[in-house]
Amino acid sequence: MIHEIQVKSALHYHKRAFATHWDLNCYRGCGHHCVYCFAQYSHKYLEFKDFFDDIWVKTNIAQVLEKDFSKKNWCGACVNVCGVTDGYQPIEQKFQLMPSIIQCFIKHRNPLAITTKSHLVVRDLPLLTQLNKVAYVVLRMSISTTDENLREKLEPYASRIQDRFEALKLFAAAGIDTGILLMPIIPYINDSFENLENIFREAKSCDVKEIAVDILHLRGHMRQNFLSYVQKLFPQHINRVRSLYRESYADKIYSKALYQKIAGLRSKYNFNTSLPNTTHMARCPKQLELFSHPINFL
Ligand code: SF4
Repeated sequence: MIHEIQVKSALHYHKRAFATHWDLNCYRGCGHHCVYCFAQYSHKYLEFKDFFDDIWVKTNIAQVLEKDFSKKNWCGACVNVCGVTDGYQPIEQKFQLMPSIIQCFIKHRNPLAITTKSHLVVRDLPLLTQLNKVAYVVLRMSISTTDENLREKLEPYASRIQDRFEALKLFAAAGIDTGILLMPIIPYINDSFENLENIFREAKSCDVKEIAVDILHLRGHMRQNFLSYVQKLFPQHINRVRSLYRESYADKIYSKALYQKIAGLRSKYNFNTSLPNTTHMARCPKQLELFSHPINFL
């Protein structure tokens, strides 16, 4: 079911930063249906029937953002779109919230980080290229497998993997920084050396600047729900996954070995680079006139 709602604020501050301290979520709920979705638990306090099928559309988000950005005390921090949903999920084709949001970033020369699993972001490449001339822009594409059959099981309504790589290529060609979120790595399911190496190799060919990696965590409600998915979709792995997750985090010996593999791949594909730190990044119109791209104010 779709609910159109009006909101009072667009920007949300998180003490603990994941790339930025500020989030904008133009939807609640997400139609990508990822079986490992952590975000659905952040909405438990709302009247959600189903995080994946009950989508709330914040129809006035661009107007509210304009007000937030116009406040004298707005610090001009880099904003991540989105943290607990995906701004380019399927419903965005109909509601088209993102173009007006990006126009607001352009007007205020505000740095923007986009996190998505969707090729639809390419629709807004002309606007994002415009923003990239006056403020920092980064696209982080979430990719955890190159196997389409596996992708269909894990992220049934997100874009095909090759389409995500194509989006990364187009953004890099337009001069916009790109990164890959290789997460979650799920033991025995997408952790093969072959899969990890495929992602590193493709990333290199798309001129991606950074690959961030994280193993699956099974905190709180997520534990039982995710283990039920494993039981249903990958019954051959359930016992081994269970034995690795006696607690919320994967077994330490397993994690150490995995990160050693990743370190080897980083070195082989020369991925010891990282994107500019967006946690403390802010706009500064005067400086931006002098240096068109990118500036990191600590
Ligand atoms: S794209 Fe993100 S928010 Fe949407 S279902 Fe997948 S993990 Fe959840």
